[in-house]
Amino acid sequence: MLTDSYGRVATDLRVSLTDRCNLRCSYCMPPEGLDWLPSPDLLTDDELGRLVRIGVELLGITEVRYTGGEPLLRRGLPGIVARTAALAPRPEISLTTNGIGLARLAPALREAGLDRINVSLDTLDQATFRTLAKRDRLDDVLAGLAAAADAGLVPIKVNAVLMRGVNEKEAVPLLRYCLEHGYQLRFIEQMPLDAQHGWRREDMVTADEILDSLCAEFTLVPDDPRARGSAPAETFLVDGGPARVGVIGSVTRPFCGSCDRVRLTADGQIRNCLFARQESNLRDPMRAGAADGELARIWQRAVASKLPGHGINDPGFLQPARPMSAIGG
Ligand code: SAM
Ligand code: SF4
Repeated sequence: MLTDSYGRVATDLRVSLTDRCNLRCSYCMPPEGLDWLPSPDLLTDDELGRLVRIGVELLGITEVRYTGGEPLLRRGLPGIVARTAALAPRPEISLTTNGIGLARLAPALREAGLDRINVSLDTLDQATFRTLAKRDRLDDVLAGLAAAADAGLVPIKVNAVLMRGVNEKEAVPLLRYCLEHGYQLRFIEQMPLDAQHGWRREDMVTADEILDSLCAEFTLVPDDPRARGSAPAETFLVDGGPARVGVIGSVTRPFCGSCDRVRLTADGQIRNCLFARQESNLRDPMRAGAADGELARIWQRAVASKLPGHGINDPGFLQPARPMSAIGG
């Protein structure tokens, strides 16, 4: 088991498959991109498969989510998913993607054993998409969503981040679009994880503001909070249901006390929190010949030292050195 000193147990593994991306969402990366990790530093498919197997077979991981950077850019992704699906006990397998390329890949991913998908979509307006993501790819994202639905990767979740002065007016149109298409929309508060270190609290569109915008157009009834478990989203029935919308108030309504996540970066580092300032290296001991049990012990020690909270609201908060795209969101 991956237990920390506050009694939380990590069962949800987020794996970053690459730090590269084909968009430049301004809450995540600068327009010019970043210095990508050098290839020899990245875990190979075999190394990655071994660490995920150790997580599942020895350490109690029950859900594996592939993310990045943009995970659809990782060659061999269907093979990575298939290998994960062959583990016993078989974990739930999900993917977080910007949707570009999903129109082509969705059937193969489904076939490989992918259970669920989250697609990021912050706007339905072409010009706003260009401003926010610096690329003209809105149509590709919408086609990717449709293909995921056709491939049966349901229920499809859509993640949206609102930025003041950019897409803050999009809460209602996004919810209408998702209701029409049967997608489950969740808004995520913008967190200080951008590579540019440009996050400012006063620019963040808060969970309260998002709910105020939605309540002007829809009737929202909160779900029973006891049903939430370790899920980060507070969910609401929309106009009597059954459709729901979620709000993830990472900054203003932190949920660290029930966090069950642990992260593996594309270069083989364990992070016990998105906001951790330390990482534990699994790649180098693995390349030096460490046995499974030894790697599992390093992983356990990494989780044991998890702090009680992310500390964003503490006066001395320091943003982690690695941005979200390199940690795996
Ligand atoms: N490229 C994929 C995508 O965009 O879905 C996967 C990686 S991305 C880092 C994962 C999620 O993190 C996306 O839903 C994205 O909107 C979200 N994200 C990125 N930077 C963020 C930030 N500073 N605050 C809140 N969410 C962020
Ligand atoms: Fe790329 Fe996802 Fe970051 Fe946008 S949020 S730049 S799609 S990694």
